[in-house]
Amino acid sequence: MEVILIKNGELALKGLNRRTFEEILVKNIRRRLSSIGKFEYTTSQSTIMISSPDEYIDFDEASERIRHIFGIAAFSRALAVEKTMDAILENAAEYLAPQLQIASTFKVEAKRSDKKFPFKSPEICRETGAVILSKFPHLTVDVHNPDMIVTVEVRDQYVYIHGNQIKGAGGMPSGSAGRAMLLVSGGIDSPVAGYMMAKRGLQLNAIHFASPPYTSERAEMKVHDLLAQVSKYSGKITLFTVHFTEIQEAIRDNCPEELFTLVMRRFMMRISEAVARREDCGALITGESVGQVASQTLWALGCTDSVVNLPVFRPVIGMDKEEIISISRKIDTFDISIQPFEDCCTVFTPKHPRTRPKIEMLEEAEKNLDVDGLIERALNNIRISKEGF
Ligand code: ATP
Ligand code: MG
Repeated sequence: MEVILIKNGELALKGLNRRTFEEILVKNIRRRLSSIGKFEYTTSQSTIMISSPDEYIDFDEASERIRHIFGIAAFSRALAVEKTMDAILENAAEYLAPQLQIASTFKVEAKRSDKKFPFKSPEICRETGAVILSKFPHLTVDVHNPDMIVTVEVRDQYVYIHGNQIKGAGGMPSGSAGRAMLLVSGGIDSPVAGYMMAKRGLQLNAIHFASPPYTSERAEMKVHDLLAQVSKYSGKITLFTVHFTEIQEAIRDNCPEELFTLVMRRFMMRISEAVARREDCGALITGESVGQVASQTLWALGCTDSVVNLPVFRPVIGMDKEEIISISRKIDTFDISIQPFEDCCTVFTPKHPRTRPKIEMLEEAEKNLDVDGLIERALNNIRISKEGF
């Protein structure tokens, strides 16, 4: 019987109660694996064990999904065998053959949490090592820096045999640190920003501003695709799509061109905050990075920040584009982000945007608009969807 072992010792438990942390993690894993089939979860001796009553269940897919879930630094796929020395010796070499074939050095480690098991750890190591050497004569034992560590764990019900651990996504389980609202465009930066904050344990909601017919359905599809990808790490994301056309047209018709983008960004922030509060989110998240574009100079950021009271998290604020791109490649959002569809930010872009705006200029410009009425109508025209896994 195959199982997956997740050692809680690997989790960062700073400031958090271990039980809560573990419960949230198990809930997140359950949700992510449920569409594969039936799995069973047991937590004991600071290990989460995932098994299945269905012997043909797709463990490859399960471990691929687990690799993306935050809160897991490393995990192992293991074979559970009955608690006898014969069972260990019959199965270890065969089960681990694919890894043993490509290693040149190895060592065996035995862990005995059941002290009643009649063989002591050094004996288990010695005998298992001897069988492996006889079946894979190209191998040598290296106790200091082996390519592969074969672990034999004697626990309550079974003995578990596994090879090297698989690296997990790290971070904290999504939801263990509360909830936040990601302002998501179709660009490169905001999906990366969402991924980074989800990694800190935030559960994500997302908000997207669309301005049909200036922006196309394809552009919206891109946002759905991006969130589906981010959700492999963060878990399901509720997306709020705001109909933004009326606001953008009102800005175009009534405000100085050099301030278009900033007035628009201020509307986005206000609407996002209103939806965030309704959804019990404690912060907003954006993909802004200082100096990247005219609307992200220090002065411009001051103007957009000043209309909201929730904290605004900008995890990529100090990164340059190359650094952001390298994360977006790692999480497979880059190829989606670079598909060329209009975003509402690129509609009505001023030729000469103000790079050192003052808040008073924006307040003056907004006097020409029915700010409250526009926001109220936008809030009444939101589509809600569930994205991803
Ligand atoms: P991105 O790559 O995330 O699009 P960007 O560098 O293109 O960022 P801007 O277009 O100025 O920068 O947007 C800055 C931030 O504002 C984005 O990272 C995102 O958080 C938010 N934002 C921009 N456009 C939208 C939109 N249409 N809907 C929701 N949020 C948006
Ligand atoms: Mg953008």
